[in-house]
Amino acid sequence: MQSISGYTNASNYYFDLEDKFGAHNYHPLPVVLTKGEGAYVWDVDGKRYYDFLSGYSAVNQGHCHPKIIAALIEQAQKLTLTSRAFYNNLLGEYEEFITHYFGYDKVLPMNTGVEAVETAIKLCRRWAYEVKGVTENQAKIIVCANNFHGRTTTVISFSSDPSSYKNFGPFMPGFEIIPYNDLNALANALKDKNVAGFLVEPIQGEAGVMVPDEGYLKKAKQYCEDAHVLFIGDEIQTGLARTGKMLACDHEDVRPDILILGKALSGGVMPISAVLADDEIMHCIKPGEHGSTFGGNPLACKVAITALTVLKEEKMMENAENMGTLLREQIKKINSPHIALVRGKGLLNAIVIKHSNPEAAWDLCLELKENGLLAKPTHGDKIRFAPPLIITEDQIMDCVEIIGRSLDRLS
Ligand code: PLP
Repeated sequence: MQSISGYTNASNYYFDLEDKFGAHNYHPLPVVLTKGEGAYVWDVDGKRYYDFLSGYSAVNQGHCHPKIIAALIEQAQKLTLTSRAFYNNLLGEYEEFITHYFGYDKVLPMNTGVEAVETAIKLCRRWAYEVKGVTENQAKIIVCANNFHGRTTTVISFSSDPSSYKNFGPFMPGFEIIPYNDLNALANALKDKNVAGFLVEPIQGEAGVMVPDEGYLKKAKQYCEDAHVLFIGDEIQTGLARTGKMLACDHEDVRPDILILGKALSGGVMPISAVLADDEIMHCIKPGEHGSTFGGNPLACKVAITALTVLKEEKMMENAENMGTLLREQIKKINSPHIALVRGKGLLNAIVIKHSNPEAAWDLCLELKENGLLAKPTHGDKIRFAPPLIITEDQIMDCVEIIGRSLDRLS
């Protein structure tokens, strides 16, 4: 084993370890974290940072939320996994809790976000054949350009980002990509009788927090209803209070036919995802036709109930709405030639950097890090600002000062 001795700086030791023994499938910011609490994380040298990524919105409730961690520890000492070969005393309770919480007949529990997306795709195809009456193997799902729904071979088959799909073919057929936020394109695509579903992010997070025009989701849902097509809302990143409502679709009173959740369903403690739908859809999958060893395990059930409970108990929707408005207002007041745009909803925000240097967003993130705030560029010139939803007004003002100071240093 390598040893930390011989390194003048502890961080370099950890950089080297990951570089040498881990696959190079990420390009992290050079900071090694060892502790998290609320809106803060600490590195191995004891330096404190604001976390403006929140584990890509998995840590909405704040790092190591005491109630979620207490539930985790308590349940971990009793029973963690039974598999679905047997009943356990928490799954049914969780299913009742989450279906009432979101207002659906049924839930299908999974683990990672992309597994829930895969589940939604399978459910939608099944429904197409067994309820809508589409000819076998002809079902089509409409998706949007610049989507991000995960990394499996099926899901990257309908990515429009070459870094996601290039040289990973052959690809899964049955998807049609249309432009995001384009109702005419949707109306045209829906003319095909084989269309079974429309899979959409209410705000495109990974694409750089692309907020569609007001009314887009509502009209899209109506078009889908008219065409007898399922509206599948991927709320893995936008859901669970992140945008100031429980779901981003709630901003337009849209109820997805299939709702996909992940990330903050565990408060960032473990991978927990879920697909919610009504009986007409969910009953299309029967015993033995879909599942997962870990999906619906008692530990996850306990954690998810607690993670959802604290969202409401601590009024995180309201705080996301208020702090998000404050953050955008204050960033707009920063007098920097390098901010082209600030956009977002609630605490899912992004700034677009204007600079002759294509690396400027990365450089700014390095400067932010030096000044005690962690954020990561997405798609080159955009930086997502998505702190935990428990962040306070004083903390937001502190962060705005850090952002302003860091922008000043951008030459
Ligand atoms: N869908 C959306 C909208 C996402 O943002 C993500 C992850 O960022 C996923 C799906 C995939 O989730 P996971 O990484 O847990 O598989």
